[in-house]
Amino acid sequence: MIRAFALHKEREIATRIWHLEGDGIYADCRCEKGQACRADNMIHRPADASRIETQLLRLIREFGEEYDVPEKKIGYLRMITGRVYESQKLSLPPIWKDPEKLAAAQIGFDKIPRR
Ligand SMILES: [Zn+2]
Repeated sequence: MIRAFALHKEREIATRIWHLEGDGIYADCRCEKGQACRADNMIHRPADASRIETQLLRLIREFGEEYDVPEKKIGYLRMITGRVYESQKLSLPPIWKDPEKLAAAQIGFDKIPRR
């Protein structure tokens, strides 16, 4: 999963998580807006493997904008087998770049009944 934290004076003020499921990218947000948060419980249609990184960067940037975090202050960390590494950019785990999994999630998303 991709996890974004908004920090203010070292204190975590919001956390948003995106995870890829069989019918889309699920977003979970924990923030001061509580139930009123429009980003929480959202399901996004995943882009193709070539565009998925751009899509996630956009979601991260939108999250940053909500908390007045300028793009250049966005930092990235990778967690590999429990250890945390600083990273220059977003590096998606392989599951996010699996064309078959993404195609299946697009189909799954399109089957979700719309209100
Ligand atoms: Zn929120």
